[in-house]
Amino acid sequence: MRIEYNPKSYKAEEFINDEEIRATLEYAEANKNNAELIDEIIEKARPVKTEKGCVCRGLTHREASVLLACEIPEKIEKIYAVAEEIKLAFYGNRIVIFAPLYLSNYCVNGCLYCPYHQKNKTIPRKKLTQEEVKAEVIALQDMGHKRLAIEAGEDPVNNPIEYILDCIKTIYSVHHKNGDIRRVNVNIAATTVENYRKLKDAGIGTYILFQETYHKESYLRLHPTGPKHDYAYHTEAMDRAMEGGIDDVGLGVLFGLEMYKYEFAGLIMHAEHLEAVHGVGPHTISVPRVKHADDIDPDEFDNGIDDETFAKITACIRLAVPYTGMIISTRETEEVRSKLLRLGISQVSGGSRTSVGGYTEEERPHDTEQFDVSDCRSLDEVVRWLMENGHIPSFCTACYREGRTGDRFMSLCKSGQILNCCHPNALMTLTEYLVDYASEETKKVGYALIEKELDRIPNDKVREIARKNIDDIRNSNRRDFRF
Ligand code: SAM
Repeated sequence: MRIEYNPKSYKAEEFINDEEIRATLEYAEANKNNAELIDEIIEKARPVKTEKGCVCRGLTHREASVLLACEIPEKIEKIYAVAEEIKLAFYGNRIVIFAPLYLSNYCVNGCLYCPYHQKNKTIPRKKLTQEEVKAEVIALQDMGHKRLAIEAGEDPVNNPIEYILDCIKTIYSVHHKNGDIRRVNVNIAATTVENYRKLKDAGIGTYILFQETYHKESYLRLHPTGPKHDYAYHTEAMDRAMEGGIDDVGLGVLFGLEMYKYEFAGLIMHAEHLEAVHGVGPHTISVPRVKHADDIDPDEFDNGIDDETFAKITACIRLAVPYTGMIISTRETEEVRSKLLRLGISQVSGGSRTSVGGYTEEERPHDTEQFDVSDCRSLDEVVRWLMENGHIPSFCTACYREGRTGDRFMSLCKSGQILNCCHPNALMTLTEYLVDYASEETKKVGYALIEKELDRIPNDKVREIARKNIDDIRNSNRRDFRF
């Protein structure tokens, strides 16, 4: 039976519609050398300055897919230039920093690409106790982290929602020296509206769930056993999360599993669906690529994508959904991260350990790791590297704590007030990092950058307050200022 495409439907196969994706890919293929159409689409994506600030129209999945298919070198350069323009218009040169915290690798699923799959008998299983969570959080605070993404396998017996809620409570309760974790994002398996409501009540930031692949047949093959096998339940999770009151949700595809053009169209359609149904698109999109891990060989997946294609995907996402933050993890090397930062990435992880209990170990442990980390630098090195490349590392968590979530965050993005709000917040939280955690070398680079960047705050009053707060942070134990 034919399934109609309907972005407003709550049924997975209607809003991620296979027939529509195939038609999109055909349309994109037919127009990949259509220079006139490509120019028109790029023009549509470009930020427009209005009296109230910058506005972007974004692109439909069909338009964005044409850009992704385009093979004309000068047009690709143009796509990259517009991606950079959009990034600067809405996110400036700030890069938000976070770290993953692995709570448990117990899992009842059979995901073929993930070492936590139930049949893997070589990986030691580990679940943090609340005391261990506390120790990990202290170690993370001592590095300078303020924002975490908690990660766990799916296991209703070992990792029930109560366990996740206990961990969140513990994380928020730890205040070591001048440290605290001010935003906990959650990356756990698809769950019920009731459980999403509990997560919302526990004060989480973003609920993140990677779709892995939008291609149903591949999805079923790659998730042969366990609750994650249910394609509709997984794909409709964000709607349940929103029904449960979580209005910042994070999408993602595990690139390398399926044909990337198919995934890309599915991802943009998912964003369109959230916008059509809930009036607000995804808060973030992550772009992980499948990596080597215990029991997993990425070469087994024959849809791996090279760095150039990966950059193109990132830039095209930036053009299609301009107000959505984009995340890249330490799965990627310094070189790849450098390039992608310019093309639209707004959040990176730093100093990450992907094993359960990894932060309290002196040496990076590999036994319970979820995947190999490519960027093994310390947080201090990542922060300095970002600053030396013209970015402002930001430890800001203000929006969600000031109630600027969902469409209210998007309004801030569109209002042109970012330079009077996010920019000073980034500088103040960076100062906290420099004073409390940075090496002397990083401090030197950082203070010079802050001095220069303070002058870019347009509003005189805001600039004055930010300067005073920064002086306070440097000369006292006062912390956590925010606009
Ligand atoms: N268990 C949760 C679920 O079912 O969605 C999510 C937590 S899992 C720890 C986080 C993500 O890691 C997965 O969604 C998957 O995309 C990614 N991942 C799993 N294996 C990977 C691998 N070998 N390389 C890179 N990323 C991987």
